[in-house]
Parts: sequence; structure tokens; C-alpha cells
Amino acid sequence: MTTVQTEPDPDIETDPDAELKALAEQAGRDLEDASALEILQWAAKTFGKKFCVTSSMEDAVVAHLAARAMPGVDVVFLDTGYHFPETIGTRDAVEAVMDVNVITLTPRQTVAEQDAEYGPKLHDRNPDLCCAMRKIKPLEEGLTKYTAWATGLRRDESPTRANTPVVGWDEKRRKVKISPIARWTQDDVDAYVTEHGVLTNPLLMDGYPSVGCAPCTRRVLEGEDARAGRWAGRAKTECGLHG
Ligand code: SF4
Repeated sequence: MTTVQTEPDPDIETDPDAELKALAEQAGRDLEDASALEILQWAAKTFGKKFCVTSSMEDAVVAHLAARAMPGVDVVFLDTGYHFPETIGTRDAVEAVMDVNVITLTPRQTVAEQDAEYGPKLHDRNPDLCCAMRKIKPLEEGLTKYTAWATGLRRDESPTRANTPVVGWDEKRRKVKISPIARWTQDDVDAYVTEHGVLTNPLLMDGYPSVGCAPCTRRVLEGEDARAGRWAGRAKTECGLHG
């Protein structure tokens, strides 16, 4: 006798994002050799206003490229309350001169409120918690309305970024994650900045090839990789935004 199962098996869960994930993974393969501009043109065409760029305001290269692909594109900036003044100045300059819509995300607590609840200099005692509250949570909330986001990650920045796909699936946030300059080198960035007169953070010319929050960033030494100045002396290498 044959038994026919008529009810769906509750053990088999359907992933509501399966199609989007497959699209991202296929695009990652198809666009591996495409130019950064072509990758962003694909993102603009595929996701329209559901697509944004995030920028740490180290430079405005990806924002500039994205504005060429989609004028008025949303550029999301995380203001942790701990930025160097130069970084805030770069954000303001980008907003003033580029054809982009800058959106500044802030944590739920000011630095003073955080200090009052957790004690001063949480970044020295528990940087993971500090990053979780001041970076990861605000970004997660800010990205809710988007289907896809672009970053300026590059494979040559550090060993932890060596396998960054140009388009991939961000499992943590359930979104398409685009890294249009993943294959670029620092020379490519410098050439683009020169060719297009792109705004850059003045700290890049002052020994900081990677710019994060002031308490967790130092100048790099000769021979160190670009991100060696981030959380220097600690095991931490990433804030968790790209983990
Ligand atoms: Fe806090 Fe440092 Fe993380 Fe900035 S980088 S959120 S100051 S731990």
C-alpha cells in the first residue's frame, strides 16, 4: 500500500529570501569581471530606490560611482558620536557638492548617555558592546527599508576581506550586499580620486589609511596593512558590520 502525504512537511521550511539570495549569488558570478560602474548600474536598475550606499567618509569614491549610476542615490553614514572632526567635515562636504542624498544614522544613546549607563570609555573595556550599540544596531535599523546596500570593501585591505564578492548575500541582514570596488587596489582608488577630483578625508594624508572612530584608530606604521591602525593592540579587527 502506498501512503501519499497531503500536508506540507513542517520540517521543511521555505526560505522567503531564497530567490533574492540566488539572484545575489548569480550576480556575484556574472559581475566578477565587470567594472565598478557596471556593477552599480546593475544595482540601480535591479533595486532602484531600494538600494543605498554606506560610507564611512574615508573617501567618497563609492558614493561618486553610485551617483553616476543613480543620481540622488541614498548615501548612509553612521555617526557614532566618536568620529574625528575631519570625518564629519567630509560628510558635510559630500552632502554639499555631490548628487547624493546623505542619510545620517545615530545610535539610540548619545556618548554621554552611554557613559552614564555603562561607564566612560566603554570602547576600551568592551569594544564589541560599544560597536554593537553605536554601529551595528543603528545600521540594521537604517537598512530596514532597503533590499540591497553597497560598501567600499576591498579584497586588498586585509586578510579578513580577501574573499569579498562583488555581489553577495548578507545573511545577517538578509539583504544583497554589493562591493563594487572589491577587486580594486589602493592605486585604483588613488587614480579614480585624481581623475574625478573625488572628496577624501584629510586624515588619509596624515598617516591614517583607514579611518574609524577616534578612540579606536591610530596612524599606521611603515609596512603595516591599511587596517592595522584600527583597534590596534586588540584582537578585534572588524566592528561586526561586515562579519
Ligand atoms: Fe565604539 Fe570604537 Fe566601535 Fe567606535 S569603533 S563604536 S568608539 S568600540
